[in-house]
Amino acid sequence: GGMTVAAIVATPTQDALPRRFADFGTLGEALDYAASGNRGLNFHDARGTLSQPYPYSQLRTDARAMADRLIAAGVAPADRIALVAETGPEFAALFFGVVYAGAWPVPLPLPTSFGGRGSYIEQLRVQLSSCDPKMLIFPPELAQMAGEAARLSGTVGIDWSEFAAQDAPVANLPEAKPDDIAYLQYSSGSTRFPHGVVITHEALLNNLAAHSHGMEVCDTDRCVSWLPWYHDMGLVGCFLSPIANQVSTDYLKTEDFARRPLAWLDLISRNTGTTLSYSPTFGYDICARRMSSQTKASDRFDLSRWRVAGNGADMIRPDVMQSFVDAFADAGFKATAFLPSYGLAEATLAVSLMPPGEGIRVELVEETQLSGGSRGGDRPQRYRAIVNCGKPVRDMKIEIREEDGTPLPDRAIGKVWCRGKSVMVGYFRDDAATEACMVGGWLDTGDMGYMSDGYIYIVGRAKDMIIVNGKNHWPQDIEWAVEQLPGFKAGDIAAFAITTPGGEETPAVLVQCRSSDEAERLRLRDEIRERVRSVTGMNCLIELIPPRTLPRTSSGKLSRAKARNLYLSGDIKPYDIAA
Ligand code: ATP
Ligand code: MG
Repeated sequence: GGMTVAAIVATPTQDALPRRFADFGTLGEALDYAASGNRGLNFHDARGTLSQPYPYSQLRTDARAMADRLIAAGVAPADRIALVAETGPEFAALFFGVVYAGAWPVPLPLPTSFGGRGSYIEQLRVQLSSCDPKMLIFPPELAQMAGEAARLSGTVGIDWSEFAAQDAPVANLPEAKPDDIAYLQYSSGSTRFPHGVVITHEALLNNLAAHSHGMEVCDTDRCVSWLPWYHDMGLVGCFLSPIANQVSTDYLKTEDFARRPLAWLDLISRNTGTTLSYSPTFGYDICARRMSSQTKASDRFDLSRWRVAGNGADMIRPDVMQSFVDAFADAGFKATAFLPSYGLAEATLAVSLMPPGEGIRVELVEETQLSGGSRGGDRPQRYRAIVNCGKPVRDMKIEIREEDGTPLPDRAIGKVWCRGKSVMVGYFRDDAATEACMVGGWLDTGDMGYMSDGYIYIVGRAKDMIIVNGKNHWPQDIEWAVEQLPGFKAGDIAAFAITTPGGEETPAVLVQCRSSDEAERLRLRDEIRERVRSVTGMNCLIELIPPRTLPRTSSGKLSRAKARNLYLSGDIKPYDIAA
């Protein structure tokens, strides 16, 4: 007999696909494979001490049992199954159970980040109406609120403790194909009500492979996360990606992080193998603030192994990142661990990443350049530090374009468009919204920025831009001017345009104010108005509002659009200030 020649296996190089991704056509296969190893999820209690290990092998077994139950309950391929995404083994098993059943999981938010019961129920209701699911499955402690949202939208609501107790015969699981839909992911709702993004297995696996490659994820990595599983950074970046990479992850619930932010860093310190952890700027900000200058960070934390401190999902603030370094360098935190990224739900997750080890790099750009205007009067020129958000991930192309779609050259600011295998199919059952942002395979991200030498710099969201007398202004330039006054901090201020009763466009600035003294408020209001005038040259309507009234998205971002709506509807009531 002749000799069979074995297939030639390429030696892995930096550019080769990580071997673990090479054979996965679908998300289910990624978990099947991970289940053969000894890695898994680890859920921690509020103090980050008690842990509940949940190996991938167990997750797969439970997910298969969930799939049997779903199929016994009549769930068919392409049905949507809405799931309230609490961080824990139940959601994990349900998410994959739905995937194994060939249906599409739709992670929905928890009530923690909503103003109250009513606004949570209302958001769930509208999301349920838009994804039209076969059922909504929720944790027992949300039976009332989620149950109410289900009733209002005509959806079957099921408590997951009851669901998990049901017996079901072992089902024949359908075979998934790469171009089948894997799940629906809602965008955050910063600029408009969250939209349901349709993601295929192929898009997901492409983005997982691309960002893992970009971050050089390897076998010895370990992840810590408090990010919610109903947001793409938490779901894709810190749940699905570790599974596909066969990396273990330690979880802290988002609400526990909100109550005790430093528990995040405790967890990283205690699990000395932790190398990966991500957060939007606000997470780094709150930790830096919680560290008083009296205590030595090294007495409590060891952050020396933290290799990738990812940052994205919102504007990256170099000043905040610097204060994090100042607070935690003593505990071994390396500024070069910061890894800026840019992405959006419509592209599965990552669009661009800075190469590991580069840290935060900024360019100082004149504010008048950023708003496309000329310098007014004799005001001194101001600069904004724009963060380098890295290079497009593998298989992703970025173009900067004019409003009419004409491509712009390097260093010209315009709309950010992207194209690649991980860009969404479209929004679920919303052709008008899909056609408004997708043209010939390209996605208009809605963000503004510029490219330089292959790197992308994000300047802001086009929809947030304030246009007064034909001139553009960035809300963050106004907000940052106020922040620099003593007593105010990032996240206390929201600027947007309103139309006065006389029909004129005016910037309105809402400022959260802790002072209960009327004379002091009057003084602060005038000081802020003067400050904004001297910095921007504009007369703005300054309104002081009570602390914690500015609305955030369920993923924790400030939403200027929501703030504007609430202000105009009278739901945010400014303090009455005489004179
Ligand atoms: P919605 O689309 O529902 O109004 P959203 O755009 O905030 O909300 P996501 O998809 O969760 O919803 O967030 C993606 C957006 O976050 C990006 O389009 C961009 O505006 C912002 N973003 C992400 N990364 C960065 C970054 N590095 N710098 C600045 N902004 C960023
Ligand atoms: Mg968006």
